[in-house]
Amino acid sequence: MGKILVVEDEGSIRELIVLNLEMAEYEVVEAATAEAALELFTAAPESFKCAILDIMLPGMNGFTLCENIRAASPVVGIVMLSAKSLEADKIRALSIGADDYMTKPFSISELKARIDALCRRISRSQVTVEESSRLVSGNFVLDEKSRVMMKNGQPIDLTQVEFQIMELFFRNSGTALVRDKILEGVWGENYYGDVKIVDVNIRRLRMKIEDEPSNPQHILTVWGYGYRWNP
Ligand code: CA
Repeated sequence: MGKILVVEDEGSIRELIVLNLEMAEYEVVEAATAEAALELFTAAPESFKCAILDIMLPGMNGFTLCENIRAASPVVGIVMLSAKSLEADKIRALSIGADDYMTKPFSISELKARIDALCRRISRSQVTVEESSRLVSGNFVLDEKSRVMMKNGQPIDLTQVEFQIMELFFRNSGTALVRDKILEGVWGENYYGDVKIVDVNIRRLRMKIEDEPSNPQHILTVWGYGYRWNP
């Protein structure tokens, strides 16, 4: 099933999360600091399925921890917790590789639902890896084994979410996809978040794959609707 890493310095919140995940039969590893968490994570990155990271931590903060965890594993699911409902924090978290973001105080059942959805998505994408390993679209190739995208033979590292958006685009090449459909296709039907998360990821994907991100030629905006992949 894979372990869940819970990083939170406030003992009562950490206990609440750990207890609820354990009741749902997850194997949980907890840490009160980013430094301790990073040591646990980097010792065996592949043994973790998801990580829940608080942003405000003593010493290294959750953003830096997120970047380090993402560097150690492109596939682990990351949910960030913040005491502030700042749009800038949310966008920052998503742009450094977090898959999801929740503002405190949060509902523990909603957090659990989001972890369930993230784990399901990761399991689903791991099944696909075994079935076929390469998807080709124009000069682009998605290697489902290494989770790397190639453009003209050059590798581009993608996060789990970015990779799944590209898979959706590749399988619907030339078709305008409404943002809700992308949200549902990548984050799952039971996702509670808003469609802005799609826009944040598209912006980041354009930075990675377009020659001129401000004048995209491949991920096209369909105004008032969504996006279309043009290989
Ligand atoms: Ca904290």
